[in-house]
Amino acid sequence: MAIAIDGPAASGKSSTAKAVARALGFHHVDSGALYRAATAARSRQAGAPETWTEASVIEAARIVSLAPTETGFTPLLDGQEAELEMRGDSATDNVSRVAQMPGVRNWVNSIVRKTGQEYDVVVDGRDIGTVVFPNARLKIFLIADPAERARRRLLERLGAEPSAPQISEETARILLRDELDAKQSGRARDAIVIDTTRLARADQIEKIVKLGREAMV
Ligand code: C5P
Repeated sequence: MAIAIDGPAASGKSSTAKAVARALGFHHVDSGALYRAATAARSRQAGAPETWTEASVIEAARIVSLAPTETGFTPLLDGQEAELEMRGDSATDNVSRVAQMPGVRNWVNSIVRKTGQEYDVVVDGRDIGTVVFPNARLKIFLIADPAERARRRLLERLGAEPSAPQISEETARILLRDELDAKQSGRARDAIVIDTTRLARADQIEKIVKLGREAMV
């Protein structure tokens, strides 16, 4: 069984998906992390991002593997954790370009579908309910105001309440990524839309876990 959680940048998909997977005893798969891993792998090689070809990204991504974690899977680069490299500014700024390459999308989709054949999964991304698992038992589409998404992302990164200028700078980055990702993002017609702008994280998770339990019977 697959549960799809889609939504725009910094909408809290991954942390929500992880918590939902833990509560339901499913495996969490973060499809965005695979796009980030391919981007980070390619960044380790020579050449400016504007010159990267699809073939060179796919070749570089051969060092990416999925390792089991307590709640699901995480991508490794050359057998090592590379969270900082995958989440840093460079990977974040270049990932949308890499994610537009059809061969890279096929690479991610086949890895994600394979996990879904072997386990019950909660998968988060942009096109999980529309392309990767169109028959997912439950589809959630998370939305939140851009400034609130920026505030949460900064709070997570800085560990303290961000200032107004920091929020507006991060909001601009998030909106740019939304725009760059628009082509490969989709809201399934049968997705349940949850606006988390004014929703506490615990309530949001509880709501999805409840929907997940209902979908399982
Ligand atoms: O979810 P996250 O923001 O970490 O995803 C990183 C990037 O990966 C997105 O900005 C998008 O370009 C790409 N992505 C995608 N399709 C998905 C998941 C992520 O194109 N299913």
